[in-house]
Amino acid sequence: MTFDTDIVIVGGGLNGPALALALGDAGFDVTVIDALPSGTRGEDAFDGRGYALALASQRLLKAIGVWDAVAPNATPLLEIKISDGKPGQGPGPFVLEFDHAEIDEGPMGYMVEDRFLSRAFLDAVTAHPKVTLIDKTSVTDQEIGPASVTVSLSDGRRITAGLLVGCDGRRSGTAERAGIGRSGHDYGQTALVCAIAHEKPHHGTAHQFFMPAGPLAILPLPGNQCSIVWTETHDEAARIQALDDEGYLEHLRPRFGDFLGNISLAGKRFTYPLNLTVANAFCSDRLALVGDAAHGMHPIAGQGLNAGLKDVGALAEVLTLAKRRGEDFGRVDVLERYQQWRRFDVTQMVLATEATNTLFSNDNPFLRVARDVGLGVVNAFPALRRGFIREAAGLTGDVPKLLQGRQI
Ligand SMILES: Cc1cc2nc3c(=O)[nH]c(=O)nc-3n(C[C@H](O)[C@H](O)[C@H](O)COP(=O)(O)OP(=O)(O)OC[C@H]3O[C@@H](n4cnc5c(N)ncnc54)[C@H](O)[C@@H]3O)c2cc1C
Repeated sequence: MTFDTDIVIVGGGLNGPALALALGDAGFDVTVIDALPSGTRGEDAFDGRGYALALASQRLLKAIGVWDAVAPNATPLLEIKISDGKPGQGPGPFVLEFDHAEIDEGPMGYMVEDRFLSRAFLDAVTAHPKVTLIDKTSVTDQEIGPASVTVSLSDGRRITAGLLVGCDGRRSGTAERAGIGRSGHDYGQTALVCAIAHEKPHHGTAHQFFMPAGPLAILPLPGNQCSIVWTETHDEAARIQALDDEGYLEHLRPRFGDFLGNISLAGKRFTYPLNLTVANAFCSDRLALVGDAAHGMHPIAGQGLNAGLKDVGALAEVLTLAKRRGEDFGRVDVLERYQQWRRFDVTQMVLATEATNTLFSNDNPFLRVARDVGLGVVNAFPALRRGFIREAAGLTGDVPKLLQGRQI
C-alpha cells in the first residue's frame, strides 16, 4: 500500500515536532499539521515561560539534534529546595534539599524558555529532509480504514498515511473523533505564570513552596531572573491577575520571601486553569496519542512535557523496531506495545501528582505536621534523597533509548 506520507502528526506544539524528528531520523516520511502559523512560535520577546526539563529529556533533545540550539540559553538545575510555607511566614522549618552533586550524571535537568525550545524545534523540523510541516491548517476529520488512515484538512486537502498520531494537546480532537473518552477533573486551581527579576543570584536552585492554596514554583532562568508558576484558587487567581503590576507584586512578595533580595516583574503575565485529563486509551487501530493529548496533568512536579517526551521516545522506539522487522507499524497490536510501555508509568505519575496536590494544597494542621515530618524524614536519609533525585532527573524505570541519549 502506498501512502502520501508514512505518518501524520496532528499538532506542532512541542511533542509533535520531537516525535517527527525522531521518526524522520528512523527513515519514516512524516507530515506535521498545526492550526497555528509557525511564525508565531519562538517569537524573540522574553516572556518568562519555560519548562523544567529533566536530564533524560535533555538527552532526548540531544539525540534528535535539537539540544545544541537550546543549550546556550539553558540554565542547569543544580539544586531543588522544597518546603512548606504560608504567605508572610516564609518557608517552614523542614526543607527538603536535592543537590545534583549526590548523583554522578550531572545537573538534574535544565530550565529552558519556551521561545528557545519552540524556535529550535521549528528550525529542525523545517530543515529535516523526511519531515513536512503544514501550518495554519486544521485537521477537521479522520477516517480509519483497514490498511490506512485519511485525514481531511481545513483547506480541503486529504492526506493518507499508515498511522495518525494525535499530539494535539489536552482537548485532543484526534482522540475525540476516534471515540476515545477521557477521565479527569478540574483542580479548582489556576496557575499564574510570570518572569521575575531579582537582586541576588539564584545559583541554579529551583524552589517549590507549598502554600495552602497550592504550590509556588520559582525556577531559575539566565542571569538574575526566574520563572514563576504560582497556583491559587480560580477566583483568587482571577482577582490577582486583574490587578496592576504593583498590586500583583504585593500579593507575590509575602509568598516569595526576600531570599533573592528585591523582586520586580520582568515580562508578561499568563494564567492557566488547571485540570487533569487522561485519555482512556493511548492507541487504537492506526492511531496513537502522545503528550498532553494522552495525559494532561498538574504542573506541581513540572513533569508534563517530560512525560510527553518519554511517550515520544517510547513510540519512536516501538515504531522503528516494527519497521525494521517488516511489520505494519499502524496495526493496533504494534501500537499496544507503546500503550503498555507508557500507561503504567503515566498512571503512577498521575497518582503521585494527585496525592502531592491533595496533601500539600491545604491548611489542615494534622496534614501539615504529617508532610513536614515526611519532608524531614526524606531529607535525613541520603539513599532516599538520591532515589528522588534520580526520579526527578527521569533516570528510573524502563527508560526509552533516546532518553538515555542512545540512538534506536
Ligand atoms: C503552568 C504550566 C507550567 C508547566 N511547566 C512545565 C515544566 O516545568 N516542565 C514540564 O515538563 N512541563 C510543564 N508543563 C506542561 C507542558 O507545558 C505541556 O505538557 C506541553 O506543553 C504539552 O505539549 P504538547 O505538544 O503535547 O501539546 P500542546 O503544546 O498543547 O500542542 C498542541 C498543538 O496541537 C495543535 N492542534 C490542536 N488541534 C489541532 C487540529 N485539529 N489541527 C491542527 N493542529 C491542532 C495546536 O495548535 C497546538 O500547537 C507546564 C504546563 C503548565 C500549564
